[in-house]
Amino acid sequence: MDACSAVEKELDRVVTKFTGIRDHAIKVFDLAFSDVENIRQIFLDDPEAKLTENQVEIIKTVLNRTKSKLQGISSDHRELHGTVSKVGKVIDRNFVSDFSATTRTDFLQDKSNVELLNKIIAQHYYRQGMDDVAQELLSESELPQSISQEIFESERSYATIYKIWEAILARNLEPALDWVSQYSNELKSKNSSLEFKLHRLVFMQILSRGVEAQGEAISYARKNFSNLIDRFEKEIQNLMGTLIYLPVGIENSPYKHLTSQDMWTEASYIFLKDACNTHGINKDSPLSIVVNAGCTALPALLSIKQVMLSRKVLGVWKQRDELPIDIELDAEYRYHSIFACPILRQQTFEDNPPMKLACGHVISRNAWSQLSHGPMLKCPYCPLEQSPDEAKYIYF
Ligand SMILES: [Zn+2]
Repeated sequence: MDACSAVEKELDRVVTKFTGIRDHAIKVFDLAFSDVENIRQIFLDDPEAKLTENQVEIIKTVLNRTKSKLQGISSDHRELHGTVSKVGKVIDRNFVSDFSATTRTDFLQDKSNVELLNKIIAQHYYRQGMDDVAQELLSESELPQSISQEIFESERSYATIYKIWEAILARNLEPALDWVSQYSNELKSKNSSLEFKLHRLVFMQILSRGVEAQGEAISYARKNFSNLIDRFEKEIQNLMGTLIYLPVGIENSPYKHLTSQDMWTEASYIFLKDACNTHGINKDSPLSIVVNAGCTALPALLSIKQVMLSRKVLGVWKQRDELPIDIELDAEYRYHSIFACPILRQQTFEDNPPMKLACGHVISRNAWSQLSHGPMLKCPYCPLEQSPDEAKYIYF
């Protein structure tokens, strides 16, 4: 953030300077134009007349003045270059361009990793609706046909959701309402507000046609809100309240928020979330998740650049796929439970899984092997003496 404000400060300087030069130049040009116009007027008044000495003097003065002013402008302009190039220097000074400490290019020497990377990029393109780019990438990257097909299939349901989402934003609610009626049981079990929010939009859409649409709006409400009244009583009352303001226009009433664009944005977001959830797919593509999570992790990793480059850390990183520091990610980027060993304070991973002792306490396998002495293991918590063989692996 500091880096951004430093660059912004420099940019402000350029803009101020530029505005100053521009305002000054406009004044100079105006003056030059009016001088030239005056001279032109002399000729227009009497095309046959010869110039008097005085007039010749005026023309000379005007030409000299204009020339020197224009030179002034061009030197101002040259000076501006210095200020502009300073912005570049500030960017270089404040932003990191070398990320080698935080990257592992050896990852891309592994064929399966390259496949994975191509796969998630293709998935991202499918999600953006750029099917042709995704297919081109898949064919150029020579992924096996079975994998390409698998990606295509998995993204097809997302593509359908995406199209409906786009339709909502374009204020066409029909596809979304069709979808809702198809999955109404699933939505009800998740206590979703989507159905109500979509019907509310239709109701407001009808009312936007004015007083003459009142009857239609009321019959729409009778038909579609009756089974939603238990959960959305207050909201439905509000909707009925809008009817009183129809003659003056709902935009001029306390209910004007119901006509705002936010209602559409909110409904489209809820649709995307609920539909993805119902189909068991993530609403974000793997690529965007990785990029966003990476952006959260980068500043912390760059601040310990020297540590990251040390051999010890490289070893840990390569062997365990584990970063040397904890990175706090937002809840939306957490996909599975994690377990940290209470003895060794390490997060468990495939080669060092959590183990449940006979007494019920859970520790990591590394801790378990350090605490096991022959046939005996003393739990560091209870402290029950037991056989190490009684411990069981725990899978999350
Ligand atoms: Zn115990």
